[in-house]
Amino acid sequence: MRTTVGIIGAGPAGLLLARLLHRAGIDSVVLESRDRAYVEHRHRAGILEQGTVDVLRAAGAGERMDREGLRHDGIELRFARRRHRIDFPALTGGRSVMVYAQTEVCKDLIALQLTEGGPLLFEAQALAVEDAADGRPRIPFRHRGRADVLECDYAVGCDGFWGVARRAFPAALSRVFERTYPYAWLGVLADVAPSHDELVYARHDRGFALLSMRSPSVSRLYLQVPADTDAGRWSEPEIWDELERRLETDDGWRLARGPLTQKSVTPMRSFVHEPMRHGRLFLAGDAAHIVPPTGAKGLNLAVGDVVTLAHALAHEKETGSSDLLDAYSATCLRRVWQAERFSCDMTTLLHSAPDATPFDVRLQQARLERIASSRAAETDLAEAYTGFPLGRRQISAR
Ligand SMILES: Cc1cc2nc3c(=O)[nH]c(=O)nc-3n(C[C@H](O)[C@H](O)[C@H](O)COP(=O)(O)OP(=O)(O)OC[C@H]3O[C@@H](n4cnc5c(N)ncnc54)[C@H](O)[C@@H]3O)c2cc1C
Repeated sequence: MRTTVGIIGAGPAGLLLARLLHRAGIDSVVLESRDRAYVEHRHRAGILEQGTVDVLRAAGAGERMDREGLRHDGIELRFARRRHRIDFPALTGGRSVMVYAQTEVCKDLIALQLTEGGPLLFEAQALAVEDAADGRPRIPFRHRGRADVLECDYAVGCDGFWGVARRAFPAALSRVFERTYPYAWLGVLADVAPSHDELVYARHDRGFALLSMRSPSVSRLYLQVPADTDAGRWSEPEIWDELERRLETDDGWRLARGPLTQKSVTPMRSFVHEPMRHGRLFLAGDAAHIVPPTGAKGLNLAVGDVVTLAHALAHEKETGSSDLLDAYSATCLRRVWQAERFSCDMTTLLHSAPDATPFDVRLQQARLERIASSRAAETDLAEAYTGFPLGRRQISAR
């Protein structure tokens, strides 16, 4: 097989990149190791920044999102049994976020790709990326048991944290920056209407809790648990009791319970691989960086990367200049490190570290009080949460 851009991975990064390239008249082939049903039902992120919403609309992939997604104008912080609302539009000049599950973003992009775009091969596992440094990249892969090779002008690793693309970077070039956290998130989906109309981030001495949602009838809830937790050890009543304790307030707020339909543990990690380009191989999304989910940034960062890359490839096609491709890694990393900073800040602001001293706990409370009492501190949080804007030219050019 031969194409202009060989894309490994059909998560949000790979699917959106293929869509943006298609709109720019650039051929691509997407290789995805899993089957379609698996990709469409993998529960992960659900908060889309304003910039992500704008990009999906401009790519012609926003119709169902606009019909079924829930626009959110704020979040609530809970601590010391009190609530404090952060009003996004008031603090950011009108910005908001959209609650629309990653599973739905992927379903919409897959449907568009299969009807309008280039080849998207499921059950096609890339084995390596070869010759990316000094020639046309080759991607050997296995498709439903049969060996093949994808030859391309550019290869893009959108294959997540465990993918193969990053391994093609020479050790002498790669720099890894990493932090692991001594806790994880036990996440559940529940068939019950959310008990609050906006996300609630709760700091509690017993640990962090998050009340989120996927639709008006499905709640998504998380509990901070120790890093090595087995989800199967938590019973339904135990999960609800613990959520209730951590989310409780003094004003009589009640948590509605319902049947749990999914339960999993997500590890917390900060990770950045630099650079994000080696010759004709580019990394995008989780293949290059991971954030702890507290700041809701993972999916949005992946979108930022592929918007930047699609714009650079279109620019090269139109002008013959590789300037923007050459700047790809540095351009993305500026945004990535802002998201890393924010995700780490939110995580340490709200979680109980097992080795926290009483001094650390008082500092955490003081940081929360500061946000609740200072418009400047609130604005800083609101700007980062709703997302640092993508270049207008990058969005509209697609
Ligand atoms: C368990 C989990 C829970 C998460 N929860 C949240 C959350 O609650 N909130 C939040 O904001 N973010 C969350 N995230 C982060 C967010 O979902 C990711 O940042 C986002 O999925 C990144 O998209 P991506 O396309 O870069 O990578 P992925 O979505 O990981 O997609 C990579 C794709 O590449 C495929 N692939 C891998 N190797 C190969 C290969 N060799 N050949 C072919 N295909 C390959 C994979 O099957 C996958 O489909 C979560 C992530 C994980 C892992």
